Amino acid sequence: MADIIQLLPDAIANQIAAGEVIQRPASAVKELIENAIDAGATSIKLVVKDAGKALIQVIDNGCGMSPTDARMAFERHATSKIRQADDLFSIRTMGFRGEALASIAAVAQVEIKTRRHSDELGTRLVIEGTEVKVQEPCQCPAGTTFSIKNLFFNVPARRNFLKSATVEMRHIIDEFQRIAIANADVFLSLHHNGSELFHLPAGKLRQRLIGVFGSAANKKLVPVNEETDVLKLSGYVGKPEFAKKTRGEQYFFVNNRFIKSAYLNHALVAAYEDLLPEGTYPLYVIFIDLDPKRIDINVHPTKQEIKFEDERLVYNYLRVTVRHALGQYNIMPTLDFEQ
Ligand code: ADP
Ligand code: MG
Repeated sequence: MADIIQLLPDAIANQIAAGEVIQRPASAVKELIENAIDAGATSIKLVVKDAGKALIQVIDNGCGMSPTDARMAFERHATSKIRQADDLFSIRTMGFRGEALASIAAVAQVEIKTRRHSDELGTRLVIEGTEVKVQEPCQCPAGTTFSIKNLFFNVPARRNFLKSATVEMRHIIDEFQRIAIANADVFLSLHHNGSELFHLPAGKLRQRLIGVFGSAANKKLVPVNEETDVLKLSGYVGKPEFAKKTRGEQYFFVNNRFIKSAYLNHALVAAYEDLLPEGTYPLYVIFIDLDPKRIDINVHPTKQEIKFEDERLVYNYLRVTVRHALGQYNIMPTLDFEQ
């Protein structure tokens, strides 16, 4: 009998991989804005139509790409960010898997215009379902503009599975806000169906939080700032009297990457002890910085779950530091001997 195993064609392999990386319009937004950050952009504009189902456009003034790199960027496992296995232990960029653009191109109609600052002419590329339709020189500003049209046009099950415009837009705003908070020094704006929802000038973290959460946030913020040899904690926690009945304004960033962690959330809430009224959740924006060797961010394709070498240490330091910060603002009546 003949052998029956074959390698999948690229277009199909990419479409399958896309299922993990690109679940909804917000996933594409995350990947494109992270790429712009990695490209060193100081200005990033996000334009969305129909909650991302019709159009997701990201305009950056980052480093841009050469004509060959612009084409290469869409290959699976194509990345400029790591070169060898060892590099996985020193990652400082948001991306490194080289999967996002290949995945997006497999399930959408993509147009990119990109120009390096030193080049006179840029490159325009149109790709649909992994197939390159156009590649030509073009006039364009330095940096890169990605336009993603009709996401999941060739995956009807995915497209039909998308939620209402309100829900999909909520996810997009969530991703936008996370990246905006982690990059206060970058100008960011978000436009939806012609109206500007966010306009965030580059500045300090406190200003950025006011831009994201509204001006009422200003009086709620208690600064956190402490470090040891292995760990640095910075950011803000909310005064307990402003804690809300819903979660939401709660953010952990590890080496500037937004992560979800029930464990660290527990440490943070424990720091408030009995200051929090029943059923309320404090605001927090905490940046945890440590040597990339001490964490594994490659646990999941979306990189929202990470593993710490020593989770207990982070837990304890977080709890003690936040308690200290709250105490310094005279919110805690007494400080116990741990401090
Ligand atoms: P990764 O970010 O994991 O490297 P991507 O598929 O997201 O993989 O991108 C592939 C490559 O394309 C990147 O490594 C980068 O070199 C290039 N690239 C993507 N987006 C941009 C951008 N906005 N500006 C400049 N280069 C980009
Ligand atoms: Mg990327």
